[in-house]
Amino acid sequence: MSESLFKIVFLIGLALSWLIRLPRWRRRKRQPVRLDRRSGREKILLGLVFLAMQILPVFYLLTPWLDFADYELPAWAGFIGSAVLGASLWLLWRSHADLGACWSDSLEIREDHRLVTRGVYGRLRHPMYAAFWLWGIAQALLIHNWIAGPAYLATFGPLYPVRVAREERMMLEHFGPEYRSYMSRTGRVIPRLSKRSRPA
Ligand code: SAH
Repeated sequence: MSESLFKIVFLIGLALSWLIRLPRWRRRKRQPVRLDRRSGREKILLGLVFLAMQILPVFYLLTPWLDFADYELPAWAGFIGSAVLGASLWLLWRSHADLGACWSDSLEIREDHRLVTRGVYGRLRHPMYAAFWLWGIAQALLIHNWIAGPAYLATFGPLYPVRVAREERMMLEHFGPEYRSYMSRTGRVIPRLSKRSRPA
């Protein structure tokens, strides 16, 4: 019973993530790009992440074909997973709201691109990626299957260090000392405990 409840929670979360992202996706296409740092390897990794977040869980939930790899978790794990999913969606929504037209699914600098340092970006440089880590944890706690459950963590894990290193290099190249100073005040996906800035 509780297992079906957690599957429904996951599907609602997935639908809400689309509601948050779809309008930004449409708007993004209207802004001209000044600097493009997309790579073939990143596109492949992004495709795998999409498969792990959207296709595999839905395939698992709608067909019995992956049931042989099911695992059991106590009900409290599902309740924690639901709370983590809620936190992930909140952070996804806030980071989209604060980043506005500067958002892109790849590595780009747009015309009139400004460095955003307010809202959730005031504490974290990568709140959206923090939301994705939370999503990965929630998915493993809500979908009790060795293939569809940990799939997001298994695909986002290798993408994250590559993406963050390239993104920060691009931001430093474009914004220079402004981004360096921003780096010294913020954490990547975990806020800095000390308020004092540290040299980047
Ligand atoms: N890494 C950020 C943003 C992800 S979207 C996060 O996790 O929240 C990726 C795009 O956001 C990149 O193409 C980059 O141009 C843009 N970007 C990242 N940090 C930014 C910032 N602080 N201000 C403005 N644009 C930013």
